[in-house]
Amino acid sequence: MAIEERRKVKSNQVGLATLSAGGRTTAYRAIVELMCGMCGQPIQPGALFSRHAPYKGAIHLAPTCIRCRPLRVSDAGEGR
Ligand SMILES: [Zn+2]
Repeated sequence: MAIEERRKVKSNQVGLATLSAGGRTTAYRAIVELMCGMCGQPIQPGALFSRHAPYKGAIHLAPTCIRCRPLRVSDAGEGR
C-alpha cells in the first residue's frame, strides 16, 4: 500500500463488535471500496469490516470483510 494512501480517510470507526467465532474486535464502515486482505474480494462502500493482521507478525492490519470474519456490532453498550 502506498504511503500517501494512508492520509485519505477510507473508513469510519463504528465501534466495538463481537466476532461470531468469539472475541471482540473494532468494526469499521468503508467509505471507499477496499480490498479484503484475506479473500481478496472488494469491500463495498458502506459495508462493515474489521481489521486483522494478514499474517503472523504483520505490522499493518489489513481490512477483512465480514464474509471472512462475521461480526455483530454491539453499539448498545451491553453489560460487561
Ligand atoms: Zn474476505
